[in-house]
Formats: sequence, C-alpha cells, structure tokens
Amino acid sequence: MSKNLIERLNDGPVLCAEIGKEHLLQPLQKNALQIAKDSREEFKDLDLMVCGDVANTNVWDPNDKQTDLECQKMFEEQVAWAKEAGVDFVIAETITWLGELKIALKAIQDAGLIAVCNFSIKRDEVTRDGYTPGDACKILEDNGADVVGLNCFRGPKMTMKLLPEIREKVSCHVAALPVPYRTTEKDPGFLNQTDEGCDCIPGGNAFPVALDNLYCNRFEMGEFAKECAEKKINFIGICCGAEPHHVREMAVALGRKPIAYKYYPDMSKHYAHGTDSSLKHLNTDVAKSL
Ligand SMILES: [Zn+2]
Repeated sequence: MSKNLIERLNDGPVLCAEIGKEHLLQPLQKNALQIAKDSREEFKDLDLMVCGDVANTNVWDPNDKQTDLECQKMFEEQVAWAKEAGVDFVIAETITWLGELKIALKAIQDAGLIAVCNFSIKRDEVTRDGYTPGDACKILEDNGADVVGLNCFRGPKMTMKLLPEIREKVSCHVAALPVPYRTTEKDPGFLNQTDEGCDCIPGGNAFPVALDNLYCNRFEMGEFAKECAEKKINFIGICCGAEPHHVREMAVALGRKPIAYKYYPDMSKHYAHGTDSSLKHLNTDVAKSL
C-alpha cells in the first residue's frame, strides 16, 4: 500500500436509494470506476492504484437480523462492480457500526480483494455498538482487514485524537481521512457545527452549507499529514470537503513534489509582497502597511 496516490471513488448507493434515484446507482458507480481507471492510464509513470468503495447503508439495524442480509447484498453487488472494473482494493468507509463494517469486510474478502475498513466516530468516541475505535479496529484486523482506521465526521484535530489508541492496538496499516473542518472538543463532528462568528444560519447548524468559516486551510492539512507520518499512520487522505490544494499541500508536507506542484503559489512577483528585482520599491516598501 505504498504507492503514490490513491484514486478514491465516493459512494452513492445510500443517497440514490433515499432520494428515489436507485436506477442511477449502477451507471454512477461504473462511470466513477472508469474515470479512476482513465486517470491511471493517463499517468502511467505514477503507478497509481484504483480503489472501489462501499459505505454506510443506513439500513443496518443490530436488532433486525434481516438487515444483515440486506446489507450483505448491497455490499456484494457493489464489490462485484469494483472487481469487474479491476480495482486494486476496496474501501468500506463512513460506517458507524462495527457490526455493519464486519459485513462489508466479508463481502470484500469473499471477492478476493484487499480491504480498507474505516469508521466514522461520533461525539462520544465509540462506535454505535459501543466499541472504542482501537478495539473495533483490532477486531477487524483479526478478521483479516488489510488497513483499518477512520474517515469523515471529524476534522484533523479530532481525528488525530483517536488515532494513537488504534495505532497501539493494531499492527496493520492505519488509515486517517478527516474532513477539512476545524471541529472541536465542543463540536467534534462536522454534522453538528456552530459558527460563533455568524448568527444568521437557519437553525444554527453550519452543516452542511454554511461551514465556510470553519474550513481548514492547506497548511493545517499539511501539518496533519506530518503528524500522521510521525505517528506511523500510513494511509492518509481527506474526506468530505477536500479540495486539490489541500491534497497537494499534504504531499508537499511529506516531501513529495506532485505533478500539481507546477501550480504551487508563487508570490515572488506580487506587486507588494514579492521579492523579484523588477518590482518597484515604491510598492514593496509599503507592503506591511496595506
Ligand atoms: Zn466524508
């Protein structure tokens, strides 16, 4: 799992079913897989990996055995599409129950594919079936998961808070893909966010369309990447809200020079803050007073 970049395909099944667009699910998934494969072809030198994806079904209920089978069918169908597309591995993510993630893991294993299993952890820092992230990840590792960890819900700081326990309890690769928002001890997840600087958000919850003021900048994501490297968290990325400049900065923070580096900001010719000899002192001398 040490290749350069991971093509991550987002899930669509749950959303499609919930808004009555199930008929779009299969073409959506298959087209996304094709886009990822095309990227791999376009950048052959990078030795890219393509991944498939399954996510929270929102139908699993620990008190209803019938939903085990419903979930299993959903996961198996999507994993089969991924396998048909020739993916290198499959991520099961944004799942809040250990019980549901075990079903996803089994579907991936039964297809003979590498499995990455990521939990989204709510406010009280345990899975919805009551396991600590470390204990839940250890159970998945014991069940054969290749990578275990966290994605979504939490920003970099609140994700980092939970990672040491996981790293300590498992020996496989550990994943961390936070959302790029400044979530806090008070509001650890981006699904419930208060923007103290704004009083006109309907209902008061900044999620999902008023998170602007809580957005992480590229350097915060770069720091997260460095801390992950120090703590041997070795499968990293960003979940909902990621922008290319965040990902590029994470790569740069780890000493890489990605293709997108050619668009890295260059302030040397900025009329006031620049250092280029062609610039007028008339303007650069007053830079700090602007
Ligand atoms: Zn997400």
